[in-house]
Amino acid sequence: PLVLGIETSCDETGVGIVRGHTLLADALASSVEQHARFGGVVPEVASRAHLEAIVPTMRRALDEAEVTLADIDAIAVTSGPGLAGALLVGVAAAKGYALAADKPLYGVNHLAAHVAVDTLEHGPLPEPAVAMLVSGGHSSLLLVDDLTNGVTPLGATIDDAAGEAFDKVARLLGLGFPGGPVIDRRAREGDPAAIAFPRGLTAPKDLAAHRFDFSFSGLKTAVARWVEARERDGEPVPVADVSASFQEAVCDVLTAKAIDACRAHGVETLIIGGGVAANSRLRTLAEQKAEKHGIRVRVPRPQLCTDNGAMVAALGSRLVAAGVAPSRLDLPADSSMALTSVSVAG
Ligand code: ATP
Ligand code: MG
Ligand code: FE
Repeated sequence: PLVLGIETSCDETGVGIVRGHTLLADALASSVEQHARFGGVVPEVASRAHLEAIVPTMRRALDEAEVTLADIDAIAVTSGPGLAGALLVGVAAAKGYALAADKPLYGVNHLAAHVAVDTLEHGPLPEPAVAMLVSGGHSSLLLVDDLTNGVTPLGATIDDAAGEAFDKVARLLGLGFPGGPVIDRRAREGDPAAIAFPRGLTAPKDLAAHRFDFSFSGLKTAVARWVEARERDGEPVPVADVSASFQEAVCDVLTAKAIDACRAHGVETLIIGGGVAANSRLRTLAEQKAEKHGIRVRVPRPQLCTDNGAMVAALGSRLVAAGVAPSRLDLPADSSMALTSVSVAG
């Protein structure tokens, strides 16, 4: 099927078009620069930016794919989770286009879309699989038996998300926002073993209750204390070493728990999605650890890891192909949409 996907859950306005598993267009407008000076996404600013960008981004995607709205078989839109006002812009636009062009509309889960996007890179998902979702707002391990039926949460962060930790540490190092890409870059010149930062929820007593859960707020605090101590002593802060050591702590825990989840469930495929999946060290470490246990790792290319419209189209395409009923035209923008619902029931 030819499916158009609309994404507006955070600060990226995305419109993607796919045919089956083939990506035809992925138009993106970001308001990230407007948020940079606040050190985080400002919801009102994001909503207004979506409003300005949605129509031109839609036009760009259709041009890029060389199709018209009339050619599209279905429209998918992120229904949640995300920022309420931001979601509302995409949902309202999608309803307008669906109504005007008389197309079925699917309200989909943004997090499931971060998993589904991998099909555009590597083809059909081998199921069952374990998916590790690591982004600005979430860090979860999920068991995926059949993505169209939902996912089973295995564990999640009990405090900060992995991307949030990257953003907060970058901020305290004065590296700007968003933090992930800068830390990734600076870490390349640093020593990952320079500083022994804590690995949250990996001690035997924590593993008993939190085997597949994550915790990154202690790590963030440890980095802050370490940096403060250096500054108090009048010593320069070795940004590259701090970046590399922090990144290593995050990636070490994420990959260890992801592989453990695969082994515990007898699953041979690990899919990594979400903005933090763009991290170069995470990708390398996951490959290395997985190989030892005969597990295949699938991570989409970095542009598909962060928010985009193609991921929404990819999930929509999967739902259409599976014969899932479309959502109703009064589908909600659901800012706290549960991970267990992949699309809004019709
Ligand atoms: P959610 O998907 O949970 O709603 P979100 O949509 O804001 O949150 P994404 O766009 O998927 O999140 O990811 C953004 C996050 O990914 C930011 O926290 C950013 O710092 C992080 N990130 C992006 N690139 C990298 C990288 N190379 N290394 C580490 N983190 C990264
Ligand atoms: Mg973003
Ligand atoms: Fe996201």
